[in-house]
Amino acid sequence: MNRREFLETVAAAAVVPAFGRQAPASEWGSPVFDLHFHLRPQPAANLAHLDGAGIAKANLLTRGRALEQVKAVQAAAPGRFTWFNSYDVTKPDAEQVLTQAVKSGAQGFGEMKFHVAADGPELRRMYALAADLHVPILIHFQEVDHSPNEGTWSAGYAKTFESILKAYPRTTFIGHADAFWANVSADYHNEAVYPAGPVTRGGATDKWLGDYPNLFGDMSAVSCNTALTRDPEFTADFLKRQQDKLLFGSDCSCRDGHGAGYDNPAAPRMAGKCVARETLSVVKRSTSAPVFQKIVWGNVNRLLRIPTS
Ligand SMILES: [Zn+2]
Ligand SMILES: [Zn+2]
Repeated sequence: MNRREFLETVAAAAVVPAFGRQAPASEWGSPVFDLHFHLRPQPAANLAHLDGAGIAKANLLTRGRALEQVKAVQAAAPGRFTWFNSYDVTKPDAEQVLTQAVKSGAQGFGEMKFHVAADGPELRRMYALAADLHVPILIHFQEVDHSPNEGTWSAGYAKTFESILKAYPRTTFIGHADAFWANVSADYHNEAVYPAGPVTRGGATDKWLGDYPNLFGDMSAVSCNTALTRDPEFTADFLKRQQDKLLFGSDCSCRDGHGAGYDNPAAPRMAGKCVARETLSVVKRSTSAPVFQKIVWGNVNRLLRIPTS
């Protein structure tokens, strides 16, 4: 297969899903797509979270060789799962493995979560490859330890990532995790995992989402939930302003879509809760129905080129 044929195959694969057109509106008043859902080994465990939280479709985040598992989940619920693939970016065969994953149907790279610099050579190779393959790259940015000596992930976000957005205009970046969301506030200097209190307007993440068409925000995890619950006035403005750049995701590890087994030592307020439900609730009460629908369904379908009408 030559490069043109390969890209056509990728594009064709992206328009196949049967479920996209008639997804049920669900309890949320809109169908919901969870961009950030880590693949669970048992197919039924994946569906238990989606069905429990009222979610129509999810994007499985996988690492390494996962095609057989992905196929098993997709077979158990046709049309409800897309997938991204990740692989150790410090390994020499990273480009080869991720290219093969895209040939096998992966629609993006992620979650990329490694102890390297956000502007270092390992991730730069991936940014270039994602552009060549026309797939987005989802990155975990974190500077502050959750546990002693955890280390940083894609380090240097606030200082260096604008230069990456400029250097790779053809790459679609999806930002995620602590440093990405803490930097909606201009006064953040890596002093807390989940900073609280009123947001100082003009934070790097908010600014860059506005300035760079190639940057999107993954709304998963406690990091985004914290950013959305610390300052309701900011949240209403932010959702309205960035309505085309935000993608709902959960990153929730609860068993049943109702919070069973969820525990995050850095966020006691979330114990026993479902992150998907908590974030869907705050987005829904903070914005209009049309903007909610874009954020939880329309934007991600457009980004992954899945027709919805
Ligand atoms: Zn993450
Ligand atoms: Zn959950």
